Amino acid sequence: FLPHLIASLESVEQSYVMIKPDGVQRGLVGEIITRFEKKGFVLKGLKLFQCPQELAEEHYKDLKSKSFFPKLIEYITSGPVVCMAWEGVGVVLAARKLIGSTNPLQAEPGTIRGDLAVQTGRNVIHGSDSPDNGQREIGLWFNEVELCQWIPAQRPWLYE
Ligand code: UDP
Ligand code: MG
Repeated sequence: FLPHLIASLESVEQSYVMIKPDGVQRGLVGEIITRFEKKGFVLKGLKLFQCPQELAEEHYKDLKSKSFFPKLIEYITSGPVVCMAWEGVGVVLAARKLIGSTNPLQAEPGTIRGDLAVQTGRNVIHGSDSPDNGQREIGLWFNEVELCQWIPAQRPWLYE
């Protein structure tokens, strides 16, 4: 039994990642989850969820003054989203890189938005922009009992 199998990792972070209603409607859920799984991040929480107006407004409260805010709230609440909590060393920045730039036309090929979207207003996915916001957003979208504490069998093959 190897102690490093259960040793807690240093600088482990969590990111709140969400497949937006367009990603669900377009059948991109499996494709997107696969990219995060293959990279080696750990799924700590996952659910399909119809987001209420108040939660959408709280999640995007920093953008409240923007002209696109009402349309953004309408978009996020227009159908089910897939809520995910992903964990790993450096996951916040790495997830942003996997996701690509906000405007899908400026997102690099190989990124989720670069490969799968065209417009900023239909950019398929959200990812937290800092570890602090990762914690805040996971707390906002998940109840404690919806998050699983587990150690994947592959951990010693991902981390030395
Ligand atoms: N958004 C939009 N129009 C804009 C800028 C942003 O509709 O001009 C939407 C878009 O869905 C984006 C979200 O608002 O993903 C949040 O904006 P942010 O700048 O935080 O981009 P992100 O962090 O998602 O890349
Ligand atoms: Mg953002």
